[in-house]
Amino acid sequence: MPHPARPTAATKPRSNGKMAERHAPGSRAQAVYKALRRAIIEQALKPGVKLPEDSIGEQLGVSRTLVREAFGRLAIEGLVELKPNRGANVAYPTLEEARDVFEVRRGLERLVAENLAGRLTPAQSAELEAHVRLEEKAHEQDGPESIRLSGEFHIRLAEMTGNALLLRYVQEASSRCSLILAIYGRPHSSECAVSEHRQLIEALRAGDAARAAALMDHHLQSVVTRALLAPRGERDLRDVLAPYALSEGLTPS
Ligand SMILES: [Zn+2]
Repeated sequence: MPHPARPTAATKPRSNGKMAERHAPGSRAQAVYKALRRAIIEQALKPGVKLPEDSIGEQLGVSRTLVREAFGRLAIEGLVELKPNRGANVAYPTLEEARDVFEVRRGLERLVAENLAGRLTPAQSAELEAHVRLEEKAHEQDGPESIRLSGEFHIRLAEMTGNALLLRYVQEASSRCSLILAIYGRPHSSECAVSEHRQLIEALRAGDAARAAALMDHHLQSVVTRALLAPRGERDLRDVLAPYALSEGLTPS
């Protein structure tokens, strides 16, 4: 399900410092933002963790100003929390916020499905087929590759609508979902069922907008259910009860 956008040269881990020198100031800011965003979404930086400007700046070889700028963008996207005089943390969304995010994401992606039904070009259709085959392969190995591909499927669909605003909102909602699943879901719980992606492609090809939207809705709901109800080792009471509260519409007092 949720995931970072396709990695670009700027977000790929660097093997040396040369690439950083080639960045113009604007694109360096973009690179810092992308690196941090990806680290949060891939759960390398855990929810709630402190983000010290100075050491992050040192690690990425950039000024604190650029780091602060990236924090500002990430805060707008709900991935970072900025507190006056207390610096920045990776955000830790509440259950109530989690419910809101899932609801918005389902609405947005229903729109994507309705929009694409009957409108996929043969090339787009072939691309989605190839993507799903990659997902199947990656699924056998169960790792970050599988999570990344699952998310990219949804982002590619949003891109194919040609609606830049819809793409931006889908990306933002799916980033927030990743963060939420990192808190309330089992580890690496963001993978989608590949068979459901296949069904979705078929409905889009058949031009059945209502079915495509319903499939998308069901798919996103089941991703959340699978992720949140799957057991994992020792957890504190808050984590244990969170998925049950979420599914029943309850909020901790
Ligand atoms: Zn999916």
